Amino acid sequence: MARGVGAHEHGSGILMTKKNALGAAVTAAEGEILERTNHMSKLARRTRAAGARPGTIAADRRVAIIDEPESRDSIHYSDDAPIASYVSPVAAFTEEELETMPLVVVDSTTSRVQVWRGPDGTWYRRGSWLRIQPRPDGEGSQFKILLCKGANLDDLEGMLQVVKRTRAGHREQRWEKRGTDWATWADDRTFTFAFHSRPYADPYTHVDRSPDVVACTEPLCSARWHESWDVHQLDRTEVEMAGAAYEVRVTRSIDAVESPWAVEVHITDFIGTPGQVAALVSDLQWMQEACKRANEPVAADPVPTVADSRTGPENAAPIDWASSPAAGAVA
Ligand SMILES: [Zn+2]
Repeated sequence: MARGVGAHEHGSGILMTKKNALGAAVTAAEGEILERTNHMSKLARRTRAAGARPGTIAADRRVAIIDEPESRDSIHYSDDAPIASYVSPVAAFTEEELETMPLVVVDSTTSRVQVWRGPDGTWYRRGSWLRIQPRPDGEGSQFKILLCKGANLDDLEGMLQVVKRTRAGHREQRWEKRGTDWATWADDRTFTFAFHSRPYADPYTHVDRSPDVVACTEPLCSARWHESWDVHQLDRTEVEMAGAAYEVRVTRSIDAVESPWAVEVHITDFIGTPGQVAALVSDLQWMQEACKRANEPVAADPVPTVADSRTGPENAAPIDWASSPAAGAVA
């Protein structure tokens, strides 16, 4: 199995002086990534994007592209020949802790999507970071996915697959163990996922049709993240009866901050009995009330808006992998 070559800088004894935006010291390798990304200034990205073939990845000014091939050891992984300096976090937790570990998704304020070339010229893309770290309430640990600026659904799903496998107890040596020397908030069960780049297409000739994703920061919404066309969802019911089907939900635009919650009703060919009509009317009234309450101004306690602080029971529930993140209604 081919493995990335080049300087391996994850061992002990590395002076970690750089800090990322979250106050965490970064490894030399991560520092290199951040530094090179930062070197690609806004102007450079815009100039490149303007000159690129329209519609290609290179035409997306949010994406940083590193053209010169570089060596990173965290691109190839083999169960048969794991790299010694990487670990699996599985042994640090009980089965139950892993299965029920909450997941939070946040937008990174500093990192942007990076497309770069491996030593053999293969293109790679990194659009998200993944960590296991202490929860803000001190009650155990949580998975945390950070979405880079310009991240898309494929970037997110790659990390969700890692979360899923880790929850199931798969011991993959693809993580780095961290501690308080890395970040003040870290503990001895803090891990960062190192193999976050995935093989990618030539950004100058290819189109990426995966939709953009952003983390949800709306406290009343039942979703953790949204695709660009999505809406926040407060509540939803879908009813199918003989001859009559409807869906009612309370939603809000993810783009316009000031847009109020509204009731969305979808009815097709409703030929209902009085009882079915009563069910529909009852659901409409329920949603009307939910919508009204959600739009009432909050006077006293400010509603937490940082997704980080969402450690309530909704995040403690195991992810429903089969359905879209927005599909579940708030209980
Ligand atoms: Zn939302």
